[in-house]
Amino acid sequence: MRTIGLIGGMSWQSSRNYYDRINQMVAERRGGASSAKIILNSLDFAPIAKMQSEGQWREAGAVLADAAQSLERAGADVIAIGANTMHKVAQQVMASVRLPLIHIGDSLAAELRRDARSRPLLLGTRYTMEDPFLIQHLERKGIGAITPDQDDRDALHAIIYDQLIRGIVTDEACETVRAMITRSFAREADSVIFGCTEIGMLFPPTEVGVPGYDTLELHAQALVDFSLG
Ligand code: GLU
Repeated sequence: MRTIGLIGGMSWQSSRNYYDRINQMVAERRGGASSAKIILNSLDFAPIAKMQSEGQWREAGAVLADAAQSLERAGADVIAIGANTMHKVAQQVMASVRLPLIHIGDSLAAELRRDARSRPLLLGTRYTMEDPFLIQHLERKGIGAITPDQDDRDALHAIIYDQLIRGIVTDEACETVRAMITRSFAREADSVIFGCTEIGMLFPPTEVGVPGYDTLELHAQALVDFSLG
């Protein structure tokens, strides 16, 4: 079994879900007392969130590159960034280590293509919805993601940063996000991407009434495939 090096803490709410899901998948596949080999480098999110909001992506990338290098030194066989947003600096992280990096957008694109989805609604932080890094990643694989309108993007960004990363899940937030999904289907979306690793805290992608793709779940799956492959 190969060792997964996970850069986490972005947020720690989703890191624990990565840890749970990766272990559950390994246990299901291997049976018995099997569990995953993971080294988790869990960062303090406060300075990273500040750098994000101030547009200091190069500096934030340097923090993640350091984290990746320490995972490499600690004996990881592969690096994963446990968040969508920070894939904005994936190239910088990749360039800092010799290990492969499993990109969150690759497993997502593969699954969308497998199901012949060409117009998914991308939900995520403002950075993920408004900066092109993930949208272009999908475009290169022939998938044209759409995003909610400005008001919905602002509301979702606030739900993620004010509530979900702090572990707060409210009925109101669930309703807001469900309504967002319904509205975008009027714009002919054919599926919805949980493009933020905390969105699955609201409800599972199987409960949105339309085909749903949770990036945390798909990323965890890709990491387990690599680890056991
Ligand atoms: N976990 C997040 C994501 O998937 C949001 C927090 C962050 O900015 O890293 O985008």
